[in-house]
Amino acid sequence: MIVIKFGGTSVGNSQRVSNAIDIVSERREQKPIVVVSALAGVTNELVAATEAARASDSARVDEIIRAVRQRHEDVAIQLVQQKIDFFETFTRQLDKQIEQIHTILRGIALLGEITPRAKDKVVAIGEKLSSVLFAYSMMMRALPGEHVHSEDVVVTDNHFGEAAPLMGPTRENAQRVLIPLIERGRIPVMGGFIGRTEDGATTTLGRGGSDYSAAIVGAAVGADEIQIWTDVDGMMTCDPRLIPNARVIDHISYVEAAELAWFGAKVLHPKTIAPAVELGIPVRVVNTHNVTSPGTLVDADGGSHTHGPRAIAVKRSIAVVQMTANAMLGAHGFLARLFAIFEQLEVSVDLITTSEVSVSVTIDEKHNLAKLIEKLKPVADVEVLENQSIIAVVGRNLMKNTEVGARVFESLQGIDIAMFSLGTSGLNLSIVVNDSDADRAVKSVHRALFENAAVGAA
Ligand code: ADP
Ligand code: ASP
Ligand code: MG
Repeated sequence: MIVIKFGGTSVGNSQRVSNAIDIVSERREQKPIVVVSALAGVTNELVAATEAARASDSARVDEIIRAVRQRHEDVAIQLVQQKIDFFETFTRQLDKQIEQIHTILRGIALLGEITPRAKDKVVAIGEKLSSVLFAYSMMMRALPGEHVHSEDVVVTDNHFGEAAPLMGPTRENAQRVLIPLIERGRIPVMGGFIGRTEDGATTTLGRGGSDYSAAIVGAAVGADEIQIWTDVDGMMTCDPRLIPNARVIDHISYVEAAELAWFGAKVLHPKTIAPAVELGIPVRVVNTHNVTSPGTLVDADGGSHTHGPRAIAVKRSIAVVQMTANAMLGAHGFLARLFAIFEQLEVSVDLITTSEVSVSVTIDEKHNLAKLIEKLKPVADVEVLENQSIIAVVGRNLMKNTEVGARVFESLQGIDIAMFSLGTSGLNLSIVVNDSDADRAVKSVHRALFENAAVGAA
């Protein structure tokens, strides 16, 4: 069995859906399970609709929802109109979902508040529609696609907007729902991104979460491979939108890929690797628009490149929180008290550096900074630097080559560095700079490590 996941751009229009179906068809023998994202841009539109509803801008809500409906109808016309019963069933489902969105959006408008639970119910509709459309389109081509509600498979906790899977019940569902279909020669098609709590509420796994869904489903059925089909040739030495001459990495280890994803390489959702690691399932990142390119293989072994830098990721809009504890100098338990506060507020920390009297950490700016500062103040003097970016150079045994650090710092001459950190695992050399310097810094570091005379490059 394999899991084949298509991202939004891979199912952005009818032509692309057709191409994606070709990819599935060519892999029929491998017993695929298909996981699809919403059509490109739809999730953003649904989020915008919830915001317009909160602002009681009903004209804007109607405009967005009408466009979302039209978009799906247009794609359906191209893909399934010849078979009128498919088309009619699909448009009926489309209208039912649209009606449901309107009901929730009216609730949001009435309360003037978006609860995470209501938001999940709205944004999940993108994947619900795309997956139904994909399954019907497969049937149009006489392929045995069968739509499966992701909510009937993926069970999560109730962290709406960022739910975590409960693997026990998910595995049971997958065995009960997916395996019999596969045994009958069917190809299950599910929406990514969506799950359901044990008491029946729809949840989502976080933006970009369809990759995570693919890995969860892959782990739940014990797949042989999880394939992430996207719009680039694989994991690359940097985001090609930022570095057009970034190179594809043919083979990389789980730990490196997870680190890159965590530090902003959007090609994989940060949590995608974890379910695969537990069962040692290889993950392959491949290009829907360039099917013959081999892509990137991610597995435990990671290939022959066992030391030195592999890629650079950048995580923007983070804050550096600097905590100084003059009064507590030398007192034990200081760090424990500080981190208990982070724990209490569920703020996760990416980088940490310490000196004798101070500790600096980086956190996502979306966290409630004001509350964090208020709680930290009795324990330490707090200074916050906002609008910062982490530039993470990732690779196993990164510093084995002494040139790496030298090249990185040399390339950053003239750019203010707010913080830097070298993970003890030697997996990550991170530098924090102003958001406004981030692009320039990434380009310089990429040039120094991967272009011209590269150091142990990919
Ligand atoms: P999908 O819709 O298929 O999930 P995403 O937009 O989420 O696609 O992820 C693919 C994008 O990730 C690429 O278009 C690329 O711009 C970006 N990206 C960021 N870092 C990297 C990297 N290191 N390698 C490849 N792509 C990257
Ligand atoms: N459609 C969701 C998003 O845009 C999930 C995904 O595409 O992976 O975030
Ligand atoms: Mg994605």
